[in-house]
Amino acid sequence: MIRLRFAPSPTGSLHLGGLRTALYNYLFARKNGGEWILRIEDTDTASWATTRAVPGAVDNIRSALAWAGLEYDFGPGKHGPHGPYFQSERLSLYHSYANKLLESGRAYRCFCSPDRLQTTRERLARSGSNSTYDKTCLSLTDEEVARRVRAGEKSVIRLDDSNLPRRATPPDLVFGSLKDAHASLPTDPVLLKSDLFPTYHLASVVDDHEMGITHVLRGEEWLPSLPLHLDLYASLSLEPPQFAHLPLLLNTDGTKMSKRKGDVQVFDYKRRGWEPGAILNWLALAGWGHIHAEVGEAASSKQAPDSTAVMTLPEMIREFDLTALTHRRTVLDPMKLEYLNKHHLMRTMSADDGLTELAERVHDTVKAAYPLSPHTTVPYIKRVIQSLQGRLTNLQDTPTVAPYFFVDPDLTAAEAQTMYKSVAPEERAKIVFAVVTRLQDSELQWDITSLSALLHDEVAKLGVKSKVLMTVVRCQLTGMKVCKA
Ligand code: GLU
Repeated sequence: MIRLRFAPSPTGSLHLGGLRTALYNYLFARKNGGEWILRIEDTDTASWATTRAVPGAVDNIRSALAWAGLEYDFGPGKHGPHGPYFQSERLSLYHSYANKLLESGRAYRCFCSPDRLQTTRERLARSGSNSTYDKTCLSLTDEEVARRVRAGEKSVIRLDDSNLPRRATPPDLVFGSLKDAHASLPTDPVLLKSDLFPTYHLASVVDDHEMGITHVLRGEEWLPSLPLHLDLYASLSLEPPQFAHLPLLLNTDGTKMSKRKGDVQVFDYKRRGWEPGAILNWLALAGWGHIHAEVGEAASSKQAPDSTAVMTLPEMIREFDLTALTHRRTVLDPMKLEYLNKHHLMRTMSADDGLTELAERVHDTVKAAYPLSPHTTVPYIKRVIQSLQGRLTNLQDTPTVAPYFFVDPDLTAAEAQTMYKSVAPEERAKIVFAVVTRLQDSELQWDITSLSALLHDEVAKLGVKSKVLMTVVRCQLTGMKVCKA
């Protein structure tokens, strides 16, 4: 059984990068009839020593996933066989794995104080060494360790990185083989902290194993940790899952998207009226581009979707292909979101219940924009939205794209005046009179075909240019040259 997990730390609101990771996990699981789990990695945030937890972050993550329609199989609020799903509730598990490593001699207790560690690091750096720790505590005798533990001395548990059981490093499914994989790792990394909370590395490996995770899809920022994770699997004699690291998302100016910049949170996009389907589509296409040659021959036959392919979630599931992911950093282009959003809106409004849903969603916004207008009922807004089909980029623009649907046009405005004055007064009067007379015909069908036939008929009858007649009619009805879409 294929099983994946999305494992955010509750350090803030869910941002676009996190949503993209969740989406890819979801798509891969659904495509393969597998499961995916939401696991909250709160050992860092829950630790007594650190307080990076942001109140409400877990609720925010859950509701952002729900808004996007990414329903997880197991996780907070959805109990299952692999729970609990908060790492802070799984501490005894991490302790038992740390003990296993101590017993097998693969890990050891370290009593060095932060001050000593700092001085040692500086000394090693000065001497040109790549080590970050001098392994002093590795030579403590069992008796000495037991005595110091009994005396209540604080200690951490470190992995002994000498004589690690070496295994062939499996290639990352996106980045391929890793060169110099161990170069950036600290010496004898800490696995369990002195407050008895695990570091991310131990907790992540233990949970991925205990939860039966077969594929880890996570952000590129965790790629440097992969060698350590593989060392841990080897030290524990466990089979590692397959890894696929997802490239960073960039702003159009090439800077990294980050939680600290206000405009990357999923709920910012919800508030600004973007369709969840369009956001997912946008994120799906970010990183799902070129075929990664190093993954293998089979990959070369795989097709990546066009960079603007409009896809619903079921279509994305059908199309998703892990081997077609790129390792190149991807720019999230806001213009592409506009394009996709417009097309998602068009798809939604092509069905009557979709149109109703859109009208209901924008109803309050329209009412707030035109509190005195009688034309703000849901059935009326439905007709407005339908007639704006193909021009509406964002649902929230409904009141502003074509204000004339809700209030009389302001014919004193500059734009209206320019149009007005572009036709001679007598000609304008003649056209208005003729068209209004025809529109008063009680037999007239108010549909596009009949109205368009009527206007063309009047062009012929009055002997005026079509452009002139249209300008006059348009000016009188809307006061605008084109709608603001
Ligand atoms: N907790 C990590 C984060 O929030 C996820 C790491 C992982 O998926 O292994 O980025």
